[in-house]
Amino acid sequence: MTTPSGTPGNQSSEVAPAEVALAMDWGGTWARAAVIDRDGRVLWQDRMANPPGATQDALVAGAGDLLLRAKDQAGGRPIAGVGVALAGSIDAATSMLLSSPNLPALDGVVLPALWAPRLGAPVWVGNDANLAALGEYYFGAGRAAPPHRMAARTLAYVTFSTGVGGGIVDRGAMFTGAAGAAGEIGHMTIDARPDAPACGCGNSGCLESLTSGTAIGRAAQARLGDATPGSPLQQAYESEATVTGEAVFAAAARGDVVALEVVEAAVGCMIVGLSNVLNIFNPDVVVIGGGVTQGLVSLGLVEHIEAGMRRRAMSSGHRAFRLAPASLGENEGMVGAASLVWAQIGQS
Ligand SMILES: [Zn+2]
Repeated sequence: MTTPSGTPGNQSSEVAPAEVALAMDWGGTWARAAVIDRDGRVLWQDRMANPPGATQDALVAGAGDLLLRAKDQAGGRPIAGVGVALAGSIDAATSMLLSSPNLPALDGVVLPALWAPRLGAPVWVGNDANLAALGEYYFGAGRAAPPHRMAARTLAYVTFSTGVGGGIVDRGAMFTGAAGAAGEIGHMTIDARPDAPACGCGNSGCLESLTSGTAIGRAAQARLGDATPGSPLQQAYESEATVTGEAVFAAAARGDVVALEVVEAAVGCMIVGLSNVLNIFNPDVVVIGGGVTQGLVSLGLVEHIEAGMRRRAMSSGHRAFRLAPASLGENEGMVGAASLVWAQIGQS
């Protein structure tokens, strides 16, 4: 990358090393840590598996060690702060992790109090999907791109993956809700009929229970009786004894009729859920991520979803949006956690 000559700030011969953020994306299987600069570039990263059955103290100590290694890797550059993305609900006032479905041993932990003294820098925590939204807003699909694309003002992010999560960023700030639990787009009710598919949250007919990779696999498996013997879907089931969402998209790409019908049904529910998001939050950018989205991209369905959303949006103001696949890939949680640091520093 070249810098235009005469840029203010380039004229000093003694330039202080630029600040970096330490970032962690702590999920059910891995704790991933990174050193990230102001431009969202990942300068170093590593990960460790959560030891199975570990106590809260052992988990916190192990992940803290990984962040200390990240600090060593910053090469003496000042650490502006530490951002941590966690799967679960986080109390906005106390930073306490209220419930963590994928890592229940961490319930009740307050990481800033434990880690700030150890790392010698302020620590902020956020929900992983909310932070992915923040990362996409500042450094991913929400950014302006020449010649015509405008930077997002209000960005809604929805990840269609094993589950369905989301987050809203308005003019650079996360919309967290009163208790820090906003953005659970996956748990809006789409199907209110009593026999709608059950959801992990205890309700039924949630967007997640109709459009997650798990839900798509389950729906296809329930329809195996309709599949032609030897069809791609039947073959996938015979080799794995189960049907995953990924297998459904692979079968759909090969023209499997039942797989295509299952994808079409899920896409219909996505269009309803995403147009609800349009009508409630009026985003100008809607970003979709996760493994299911990769399947949708491979089948060329993103424009179809965008057109369906536009048909259901209630006014021209709600139709003024663009739909974009997430662009940060598997780093989105960490880039989002670093974005939280930059947002907090900016406010202080
Ligand atoms: Zn639910």
